[in-house]
Amino acid sequence: MRLMATTSRLLRYLWAAPYTLLGVALGLLAVAFGGSARLHFGVLEFCGGRLGAFIASFPEPLRFSAMTLGHVILAVDRCALRELRSHERVHVRQYERWGPLFLPAYLLSSLLQLLRGRNPYRENHFERQAYAATPARRRISS
Ligand SMILES: [Zn+2]
Repeated sequence: MRLMATTSRLLRYLWAAPYTLLGVALGLLAVAFGGSARLHFGVLEFCGGRLGAFIASFPEPLRFSAMTLGHVILAVDRCALRELRSHERVHVRQYERWGPLFLPAYLLSSLLQLLRGRNPYRENHFERQAYAATPARRRISS
């Protein structure tokens, strides 16, 4: 039983690995610019630094507080990470389920909502799941 659980967990990490690797690369860039990193219950979390402050300064349509890539959460600062962690962890589980198909599926969902005249972020299937599980107060991104 324990072997099956370990194998299942390993497969979920491997399935999401392409995005996790991208997240680690961006996270290391954040650390190079003064950000911090830590492992929190199997998910690498990066936050803060000059890169975080730079992203937080983006104009409204482009600004975001946190995003998830595979098993990596990137946040603009510690406060955003604390506030959005549970929302972002829903996205971690989505990456585990969808693997390499997650980003195309996410973008397709946004496109379909846009074509229907709806908000491509808030009405996105994956965001609706994440918000339903964890109502977040700040603007966030995948
Ligand atoms: Zn989200």
